[in-house]
Amino acid sequence: MNVYGDLKKLYKKWKEMDKSSESIPMGHNHGVVDVYLDPSLSITSDLFAEYLYLRGIEKCPVCHSQDVSIPEAQEGCCMTYSLPFQGIMSGTSEDHRYIESNSSHENISISYQLAIECDNCGHKPLFDKELVIKNIEKMIGTNNA
Ligand SMILES: [Zn+2]
Repeated sequence: MNVYGDLKKLYKKWKEMDKSSESIPMGHNHGVVDVYLDPSLSITSDLFAEYLYLRGIEKCPVCHSQDVSIPEAQEGCCMTYSLPFQGIMSGTSEDHRYIESNSSHENISISYQLAIECDNCGHKPLFDKELVIKNIEKMIGTNNA
């Protein structure tokens, strides 16, 4: 297996993830929030971690600590999915009117950057998501992915 084998596997797994939606009850009488998951909006933490490893990025650039982690879902910086709220689907008719008049499909927490986080000094460098994906595709060669 070549050095990019794991990267390729994780990339393929990410590419094959399906869009899905899920209704999450917000508790008694608080309605339901529909959450849409779109994997194409952000790569998975595993894939990002492998990319960083292969690029030799393992240290905080500020304090040089190796105590660096990838936030699973930190303010949308490194989310596996985006979580746009469609709105509260049950509730009073007032709620429905409010949601309808406020065009409910609002995207939250979509970020175009991926973050790592230093657990020592708190520094949080950001990586451009599009460039990371482009680099990954270059590394594995998308033609034979
Ligand atoms: Zn640091």
